[in-house]
Amino acid sequence: MENHSGRLVLVPSPFQGHITPMLQLASTLRLKGFSITVAHTHFNFPDPSNHPHFEFVPILDGLSDHAHISSQNFIAIASTLNTNCVSSLREFLIQITKENVEHERIRCIIYDGLMYFADAVAKQLGIPTIVFRTTSATNLLTYHAFARLRSNGYLPLQDSRSFDQLMPELDPLRFKDLPIFNLPNSDAMLQQIEKSLEVRSSGVIMNTVDCLEGSSSLGELRKLYEVPFFFVGPLHKMAPDSRVSFFKEDNRCMCWLNKQASKSVLYISLGSIACWNEKELTEMAWGLVNSKQPFLWVIRAMPFNINGSGSDWVESLPEDLKEAMGERGCIVKWAPQKEVLAHRAVGGFWSHCGWNSSLESLCEGMPIICQPYFGDQRVNARLLSHVWRVGLEWSNVIERGEIERAVTRMMVDEQGREMRLRAVELKDKIRLSVEEGGSSFKALNDLQHFINTLSL
Ligand code: UDP
Repeated sequence: MENHSGRLVLVPSPFQGHITPMLQLASTLRLKGFSITVAHTHFNFPDPSNHPHFEFVPILDGLSDHAHISSQNFIAIASTLNTNCVSSLREFLIQITKENVEHERIRCIIYDGLMYFADAVAKQLGIPTIVFRTTSATNLLTYHAFARLRSNGYLPLQDSRSFDQLMPELDPLRFKDLPIFNLPNSDAMLQQIEKSLEVRSSGVIMNTVDCLEGSSSLGELRKLYEVPFFFVGPLHKMAPDSRVSFFKEDNRCMCWLNKQASKSVLYISLGSIACWNEKELTEMAWGLVNSKQPFLWVIRAMPFNINGSGSDWVESLPEDLKEAMGERGCIVKWAPQKEVLAHRAVGGFWSHCGWNSSLESLCEGMPIICQPYFGDQRVNARLLSHVWRVGLEWSNVIERGEIERAVTRMMVDEQGREMRLRAVELKDKIRLSVEEGGSSFKALNDLQHFINTLSL
């Protein structure tokens, strides 16, 4: 395909849950006629051979070759990148601007909201920008609420009795659903969020969809921003298939799934960042075994773990436990998640409620046992359980009895059946949104026209 609409430079954040939707967005925009350059940190550099239609440019990030991400250092890494990457991105942009090939000129820079340095660099060079937010619209609203909550004396959170209360103007979110709740480095996170909100780009792209958040959040966001919003999600349904995993997918689990009865299997994955310790792993395993439901479980190898040493946790499971699991459980280090969720044998998802996982689950009509860890995951869990009512809120206590009960409620009880029915209704609505004439389909066309109006 020849692309004549100009070049877009995309600046993703190098975390799995961020790079995935950015590259999906890139695929959809390439089909609209734009050339795509991905300016990516050395850290977690994607394999360009998986994306032959994009040009990849490395940005120097100053991180060590041994850097790893966890919930503990996520904010520190995000902050470091915003300082270290400035000059490398600027040099690249100056160079490409000098080349000055007519139809290849940069139309605009689309940057991940976490990589807000890109906005300042682009502004200095007179290049327009659009920010891409990879979380839910509701989560973005919580970011905007911080200043108000602080001036009304609600922040910093202190009185544990108030944690369960609903937040003013953010119903049904409670104080304990705030992305900064229970974070040892919550001040650092607040600072990062506030810096990312200070910048003013020409538009905002969101990986969400009207039928999920249009009525609840879009109006509120329009009051806060003077620029257009584009709800173009779920991007994995808008984009042609592209492989974006940092980890190698183990496809053997699909053969195992083929042998299981319809809707019988619980799929468990806690995403790419959340960490757990050996005791929690053992409790989860016994809870699953005792529930007597078949399960497919992603136990990621954790090069960065709480002991500071590399370990494959699955190898540390006691022998009697492995025996008790027998044929009922299938364990992999990384699964082809979208295919798993679409498989007829899968009947429920036990998830950390990352936004990509939440969208992927909603698109397949899959109900979720919510086990949020940090950041926007608690906001997503609340939306899943209390707004769309397809998510099970439980004690979140990692103890075998609690887990067995939660699994039974989801996979066996009437409650799970009702959630599954609601999830299928939502799946149909989302499908209509991405089809021709649907809200996301239109939003993507609007985005294309909007980019074309930005000066070259
Ligand atoms: N994922 C996957 N295989 C796995 C586990 C996760 O492909 O075994 C993908 C999943 O489909 C999703 C992404 O990893 O696209 C995780 O992103 P999410 O926003 O859900 O969570 P995060 O990893 O950012 O916490």
